Amino acid sequence: MRKVAFKTLAASAVAAIFASGAYGGAVLAPDSDEELRPTGKGWGERAQPGHANPHGSPNTNGISYHGGPLILGTTNVYYIWYGNWSGNTANNILTDLASSIGGSSYFNINTSYYDGNNMSVSNSVHYAGSTPDSYSHGTALSDSAVQGVVSDAITSGRLPKDTNAVYFVLTSSDVNETSGFCTQYCGWHTHGTISGSDIKYSFVGNPDRCPSACEAQTTGPNGNAGADGMASIISHELEEAVTDPDLNAWYDRRGEENADKCAWTFGTTYTVANGALANMKLASRDYLIQRNWVNASGGYCSVSY
Ligand SMILES: [Zn+2]
Repeated sequence: MRKVAFKTLAASAVAAIFASGAYGGAVLAPDSDEELRPTGKGWGERAQPGHANPHGSPNTNGISYHGGPLILGTTNVYYIWYGNWSGNTANNILTDLASSIGGSSYFNINTSYYDGNNMSVSNSVHYAGSTPDSYSHGTALSDSAVQGVVSDAITSGRLPKDTNAVYFVLTSSDVNETSGFCTQYCGWHTHGTISGSDIKYSFVGNPDRCPSACEAQTTGPNGNAGADGMASIISHELEEAVTDPDLNAWYDRRGEENADKCAWTFGTTYTVANGALANMKLASRDYLIQRNWVNASGGYCSVSY
């Protein structure tokens, strides 16, 4: 996801991103009528001729199913802590998030999405483990290097090979992602073939690298602005990954996936002891997490379903 539709930067930021053509070389202006498919980075690109949404059909909820698989049953979450995270409370904050988001009324929004057999996403997430990676691919990661980080963790046996999972590459604030972290997106998700299996993974950088672009507030509810910002971005990518893991399931005609439609909107907030805003409590922690699109009742952004 990238930070758009937030504060007053939104319109110019969207125009700049759509004009840049940084992905697919065919990124269209927002007023185009042509259907787009998702890139996983929060904006659409032109579908290849002959591959344009073969199963796509509009429904009444503002988002459409395009025939691809969803992640069904319990979704496993793995973290790869890339770079230097020593002494950072992010590990506790984000492990707690992955351990408590399943079963919440927030994640339950994803149960409004289903596949061609009418099988719906489950409100079940399991935090399945983590591994450190001390700069194996340096401090400037390309998209393919991110997949390399995931591949290395699996092929070395540090993490299991799991096709019902999302692997998050979480980078410390001294690490860049050179395809556009902080300028085009704050995180993204995609999939790739690793050891012969379709593996879903996501990049989420530490937004302390660029607070004005990727943090909703500079004091987070858990006292760690970077990790609190990542909690919102991880949640966004996770809900997109379960409803559109291979970028061919649920998205709208602009190529926006469920969470993209509500990016950087939070609904009703409250203030916690340190002055930060929050909008939900998961287990013992408060978080400020962007809303997600409910695929029911005409479609709407919400923090619960
Ligand atoms: Zn997104």
